[in-house]
Amino acid sequence: MPDFSSTRLWDVHAHPFLNRGAVTPDEFLRLTGFGGGWEPYFAEAGIEATPELGAEINEWKRNTTWHKLLVRELSNYFGCERSLDAVVAARNAAVASGYKDYVTALYEDAQLDGAVFDDGYPLPQVDMNAMQAEMGIRCAKIYRIEPLIVSLLKQDLGWSEFSKAYDDALNKALTEDGYVGVKSVIAYRTGLDVSPLSRTTDQGFVALDAIKRGTGGGAVKKLRDHLLCRALDICSEHGVPMQIHTGMGDYEVNLVLARPAYLMDLLRFPAYRMTTVILVHMGYPYQREAGYMAHVLPRVYCDMSEGVPFSGMGAAPILREILEMAPLHKVMYGSDAYTVPEGIYASAKIGKRIVTTVLGEMVADDVLTAAEAQDVGEMILNGTTKRIYNL
Ligand SMILES: [Zn+2]
Repeated sequence: MPDFSSTRLWDVHAHPFLNRGAVTPDEFLRLTGFGGGWEPYFAEAGIEATPELGAEINEWKRNTTWHKLLVRELSNYFGCERSLDAVVAARNAAVASGYKDYVTALYEDAQLDGAVFDDGYPLPQVDMNAMQAEMGIRCAKIYRIEPLIVSLLKQDLGWSEFSKAYDDALNKALTEDGYVGVKSVIAYRTGLDVSPLSRTTDQGFVALDAIKRGTGGGAVKKLRDHLLCRALDICSEHGVPMQIHTGMGDYEVNLVLARPAYLMDLLRFPAYRMTTVILVHMGYPYQREAGYMAHVLPRVYCDMSEGVPFSGMGAAPILREILEMAPLHKVMYGSDAYTVPEGIYASAKIGKRIVTTVLGEMVADDVLTAAEAQDVGEMILNGTTKRIYNL
């Protein structure tokens, strides 16, 4: 059987955070919960966030298998009672006695060497240098294009200035500013049905002109589609990977237009056949589509984030399904965890456990030899991320 007890981890997709100090159990529940904040969800609809409504939300956040596993992993770490109150009291005491020492010990227990952070969430951006100073692991960062697009649209630029400012910002991020790749959440905005013909610079010109003149015609989507293509071009020029959000996310995601299959025409377009693209969250719940795409498109990869950890007990079945079609070395461990250090920790523990389970089954079924399974697990847990990001 494969043994990953001494295998180190790299997390290919997470979001940055700084020390928040002590938190209450309700705050911890909210900070680690999946799907976006419930206060803005109701506030957007003009519904008052009463304490009764908060209690109702907290009740269902507590009743997810993700929350149960988070409490399990933290109670194991602290050696305390398996309850939210007990683990939050233990983590608050550990934070108070020295945040950096606590996080370093926590991540060493998970054998985590580093993580690739998407600093486009939360906004305003977390200072990654400040975060690195608080962490005992390597914090690599990727550059999200959507905040840049919003900021350029607020300026009254003509197309040539807009397009130059966009290229300059991405090129600077990848050269002077230390970013190791690029990320897009276009699935949250106008969807993944992006025509590769959007690549022509004329489309950018026409779309920006239509936005300025208010003539409609899907101009915002045309502009975003063009800028996604341009980001893929720039990633190719720099030889760095592009992460594209696919599948589930916060409540505002367009889940139908987040299916990975919508990206087929774009990613098999001749210009992008050598561009490295990661289908973030392996498109969950459409993970079989993502696995198929990783099979037929040579430079397309998938990560396991969100499926691990937020589907809780679903993580092992998801990994089994993605490995049906995805080449075994093209799946990477990731968490998508945020806000507090404990999400990344619990996810790493769950991730290693399910990789051990699923690869162990493949050995028992004589699909892989124990040595092959060992190699595959090492690639999933750290090797592929380190290779494609040059870490
Ligand atoms: Zn994310």
